[in-house]
Amino acid sequence: MSYSIQKKYDLFVNNEWRRSSSNRTLESISPITGDVLCTVPDATERDVVEAVIAAKAAWPKWHRMGARKRAEDINKLADRLVAQADRFAWLETSDTGKPWRESYANVLTAADRLRYFAGAARALEGNTMSPGGDILSYDIREPLGVVGIIGAWNFPLNMFVGKIAPAIAVGNAVIYKPAEPTPVTTLEFAKLIADCLPPGIVNVLTGYGATTGLSIVSHPDIRKISITGSSATGKAVMAAAASSTKQLTLELGGKNAQIVFEDANLDKAAQGIMLGAFMNQGQVCTAGSRVFAHHSIADELQRKVVDLIPQLKIGNPFDKSTTMGTMVFEEHLNEVLHYIDIGKSEGAKLIAGGNRMNVKDYPKALFMEPTVFIDAEADMVIAQDEIFGPVVTFQSWSSEYAMMQTANLLDYGLAAGIWTENLGRAHRTARDIEAGRVWINCYNLFPSGAAFGGTKASGFGREDAFETMHAFTQVKNVIVDISEKPRSFYQ
Ligand code: NAD
Repeated sequence: MSYSIQKKYDLFVNNEWRRSSSNRTLESISPITGDVLCTVPDATERDVVEAVIAAKAAWPKWHRMGARKRAEDINKLADRLVAQADRFAWLETSDTGKPWRESYANVLTAADRLRYFAGAARALEGNTMSPGGDILSYDIREPLGVVGIIGAWNFPLNMFVGKIAPAIAVGNAVIYKPAEPTPVTTLEFAKLIADCLPPGIVNVLTGYGATTGLSIVSHPDIRKISITGSSATGKAVMAAAASSTKQLTLELGGKNAQIVFEDANLDKAAQGIMLGAFMNQGQVCTAGSRVFAHHSIADELQRKVVDLIPQLKIGNPFDKSTTMGTMVFEEHLNEVLHYIDIGKSEGAKLIAGGNRMNVKDYPKALFMEPTVFIDAEADMVIAQDEIFGPVVTFQSWSSEYAMMQTANLLDYGLAAGIWTENLGRAHRTARDIEAGRVWINCYNLFPSGAAFGGTKASGFGREDAFETMHAFTQVKNVIVDISEKPRSFYQ
C-alpha cells in the first residue's frame, strides 16, 4: 500500500493553515531515496506570537468544558488515528526510514496515550482537609494555560501525540514544534486535530531550534516548556526559560546500562540486548548501548547476540517483515560512523558491523550495519558518549560493587536493564542504579501509565503517567471559613 505526501505544508494555527511571516522553508529529505519529501515553513518569532494569541484565547473555554467533554474530543482523535493507522505508519516510515512494523506499533501507542490521558484527567483530584477551627482547605488542579512542547526526530508521531495528550487532557493549549528532519506525521496529525478539537488548542510551528524553538522558550506568556532532545539542548533551554520563570520537563539523552548477571537466562538477555541496541536503528534515548556482562558468561552472551544478527531483516522499510530500516539523516549517520572509528582507535574489538550498508535497489538509503564492540573499557569514548545509532559495547566485570560504580559513573541517568533470575539481586540492582526507568528481564517497553523520564543529565519530569498531569497543572489552594462568627484577631 502506498500513500502520498503533500509537497508543501504551512503552519497550523487556530485550526487553520497559515503562511509563515518569513519566506524561508526547511526541507524534509527521505532517508530511503534521498529525495525531498516536502517543504515546511521556518516559523518566525512573529508566528510564535500569533500562535500564542490563538492559544491564549482558546484555553479558558477548553478548560471550562470539563474533563469529560474534553475526553470525548480526545478519544475521537484517537479513533481517527487508529482508523488511519496504516497511512500514518507509511508516512512515519517515509520520513524516518524506520521499519513499517515499528511505525505501526508507534501509531497504536500514540492512540493509547490519548485514551489513557483522556480518561486519567477525569480522575485528577486535589486534596481537601479540615485543619480545625471551622476552616476548610481544598486544592484545585488548574491548567497552566499555554504550554510549549518541543520534540526530537526519533519518534516524531509518538512524541507529538504522547506529549500533547496530558497537556490538553487537563485543559491547556499547546504550541508544538517538531524536530527539523521529521515534520510529516505531526503535520498530518494536525489535520485530524482540525476535525476533532476546538481552534487554538493545538498549534504546530515548524522551524529550527535556535530560532523557532528559542522563540517558544522565550515567550513570556508560555508557562511551561516540555522538551525532548539532547542534554546540551536541555541545558540551553533551561537557561533561556529562566528569564520568564517557566516550568520545565526535560527528556534528554541517555547512555543506558544493560547489566547481565551470571545466572541470567542468556537467550532472553540476548534478545533484550538486540532490542535495546537495534530498535529504531539504535536512535532511541533508552538504547541499551552499554552491556555489562559478568565475566563468566560474557563470551557466551556476546556469541548469542552476534548469532542473532543475521536474523535481523535489514532492507525495504515498507516491507512488513523488515526489522531494521535506515538512519534518519545523513549527517547523523556520518556521526555514528565517526564513533566507530573512535572505538577502533581506542582499542575496543569490533566483532560485528561497523559500516554503512549497501542494500540492493536502495543506492541512496541510509542503512547502517548492526555493530558490536567487545572488550570496551569504562574510560573509552564509545562507552561514555550517547552514539544514538545501532552500536552496542560490551564490558565484562567480576565485582558487582565495582560494576555498579562504573555503571553509575556517567552523567546520564535515563534507563537500565537488569538480567538475572535472582529476585533479591534484581531489586537490589534496580535500587542502586541511577536511572529513571529500570527494566528487569525485559527492555524498551513503554506502557501508558508507567512513569518515564531521567535523572542527572538525562533530565527531569516524568511522562506517560498519571503524574505527568501534575506537571501540566498547578494547585490552587482555597481556604474557607465555614463559621458564622467574625474572626477576632485584633481584639
Ligand atoms: P536536539 O536536542 O538536537 O533537538 C530536539 C528539539 O529541540 C528539536 O526540535 C530542536 O529543533 C529543538 N531545539 C534545539 N535547540 C533548541 C533551543 N536552543 N531552544 C529550543 N529548542 C531547541 O535533539 P535531536 O537530535 O532532535 O534528538 C536526539 C536527542 O534526543 C538524543 O540526545 C536523545 O537521547 C534525545 N531523546 C530523549 C528522549 C527522552 O525521552 N529522554 C526521547 C527521545 C530522544
